Amino acid sequence: MNIDNYNFNGKKAIVRVDFNVPLDENGNITDDTRIRGALPTLEKILNDGGALIIMSHMGKPKGKVNPKFSLAQIKDAVAKALGRDVKFAPDCVDAAQAAADLKPGEVLLLENLRFHPEEEGKPVGIDKTDPAYDAAKKEMKERQKEFSKTLASYADVYVNDAFGTAHRRHASTAVIADYFAAEDKMLGYLMEKEVKAVDNVLKDIKRPFTAIMGGSKVSTKIGIIENLMDKVDNLILCGGMTYTFAKARGGKIGLSLCEDDKLDLALDIIKKAQEKGVNLVLGTDCIAADSFSNDANTQVCDVMNIPDGWEGLDAGPETRKAFADAIRPSKTILWNGPAGVFEFDNFTAGSRAIADAIVEATDNGAFSLVGGGDSVACVNKFGLADQVSYVSTGGGALLEAIEGKVLPGIAAIRGDK
Ligand code: AMP
Repeated sequence: MNIDNYNFNGKKAIVRVDFNVPLDENGNITDDTRIRGALPTLEKILNDGGALIIMSHMGKPKGKVNPKFSLAQIKDAVAKALGRDVKFAPDCVDAAQAAADLKPGEVLLLENLRFHPEEEGKPVGIDKTDPAYDAAKKEMKERQKEFSKTLASYADVYVNDAFGTAHRRHASTAVIADYFAAEDKMLGYLMEKEVKAVDNVLKDIKRPFTAIMGGSKVSTKIGIIENLMDKVDNLILCGGMTYTFAKARGGKIGLSLCEDDKLDLALDIIKKAQEKGVNLVLGTDCIAADSFSNDANTQVCDVMNIPDGWEGLDAGPETRKAFADAIRPSKTILWNGPAGVFEFDNFTAGSRAIADAIVEATDNGAFSLVGGGDSVACVNKFGLADQVSYVSTGGGALLEAIEGKVLPGIAAIRGDK
């Protein structure tokens, strides 16, 4: 079912959102992006005349009640965002009466789902190597079904708007969908936007397509690089992985970040790019520093010849130009991972050059998707988040989607398991 075509009037809707918002030591929300992100879906349900049951996780309480992760702390912020009262159910599996009492236009927030181990469905207190582990896992899966059934019993319709957890087969993100008919389960607006953004870079590609993969390590990005290799015209690899590639090609990289066990992998990526006709753009020069700090002394170096005691912390001028030249004429752009240690103000130039070129290409009609961790922090730092086509809210979920994996949270609703 499609949320736009559904009339929630007189219905009780249970909605999985990602309200795992960052809190300061006094329990105040420091960034409410995730709450704002879910508002279109929540407001649609209430404006239609539906009653709303909101469920989410917060943090990693590991199946135990822990006040530090209580959603009671965000109840008032949710009420403020919705402009109406929010009732609170202190135990998510003991909320049948509160849900039954709910009238159209009313809102009930359930306590943190992860206070119960059934949410994640992993057996607790038993090691994977224990001979009894398989039996414990089987038992927990049964308990997870019961838990999901209880949550489902509160409502007539289920909406999943938690893209951040869509890559997990948890009770509230996937299993619960089994207890609703196809016409009574759907993705929320935020999920729909995320799915469409991923489709734009994996399916409805306008060319040239340029993917920019940065960050610290090649090992964590290899699944994505391999999946993108069949789709992109230009593949920019930057950030810390630059030096693994430089060393693999016989370079001298000083103290730069390097995964010595991935040198063969780097050569293999270079070979595959050649075979597939992908224009692989690697850094040629870098800003090398004499210590890992913002105030380090710096010099521009050839990435193949970095002096002993120095380490590459950002892309050099020649590299920045090559990156921007590849990005500017592109019509589809995906950016994951910074080109340098952007947390230090003196090493933002590489990431900034990428961000500026993406903004320019977007202005010229490209679709640009930025997501998966630190590149989001990057565009936020530069104040450019509203000048790219889409900034994803999902870290791990986005990366798995780009790897080409089916996300359980989406499959559970669409039935494409
Ligand atoms: P990732 O989580 O793999 O996307 O990596 C992001 C991190 O990579 C950021 O914290 C950056 O500071 C770091 N990073 C980027 N370039 C470098 C570099 N040349 N040396 C060390 N760390 C880097």
